[in-house]
Amino acid sequence: MTIKGGLLIIISGPSGAGKSSVTSNLLSNIKNLDFSVSYTTRDKRSNEEDEEHYKFISKEKFHEMIDENLFLEYETVHGNFYGTPIKPIQESLKFGHSILLDIDVQGASSIINTNHFDCVSIFIKPPSIEELEERLIERKDMSDDDIQKRVKEARKEIVQSKYFNHMIVNENLDECIDHIRKILMGL
Ligand code: 5GP
Repeated sequence: MTIKGGLLIIISGPSGAGKSSVTSNLLSNIKNLDFSVSYTTRDKRSNEEDEEHYKFISKEKFHEMIDENLFLEYETVHGNFYGTPIKPIQESLKFGHSILLDIDVQGASSIINTNHFDCVSIFIKPPSIEELEERLIERKDMSDDDIQKRVKEARKEIVQSKYFNHMIVNENLDECIDHIRKILMGL
């Protein structure tokens, strides 16, 4: 399928809400949708590929990129830096594609507030905080301390979901994906 081009599709939500599963499904099914690969200073997880999930760089390199104005936005999330590079976005839009950003709530609001791009913002919410915590434990890729940090952060993020164009509860992954596809097809 294809969707309207020229858009930034911003997907946010707490870790464990299901953003990665949603984004990978959308990217494999929508021909003219590219993924904005963020830069981060956090350590690579064993199931991740450099340049595919993130570009993993040092704090020094990240600061150089800030100084060179290479980011559309950047934030510290859970103690690490994450930033959205501008250039790939410009390239995608030039080709008439849309581009999908999986970023945190602060990053999303700073892009939305600059008004430089046509954006559609979607917040994916877990059915409950308890369910979110269980999903994070099941992932087995984080320490208990990290899980608790993310649960605490999730409570704050959920409060800010009202600023998004769409808020979808991920009770069932297939239904959640279906709902988002319908939104994107209707643009
Ligand atoms: P994780 O470390 O679990 O992959 O991601 C942690 C959080 O950082 C997630 O909420 C993710 O959406 C967010 N994130 C990833 N890339 C960026 C980015 O470039 N900018 C911002 N602001 N947040 C990001």
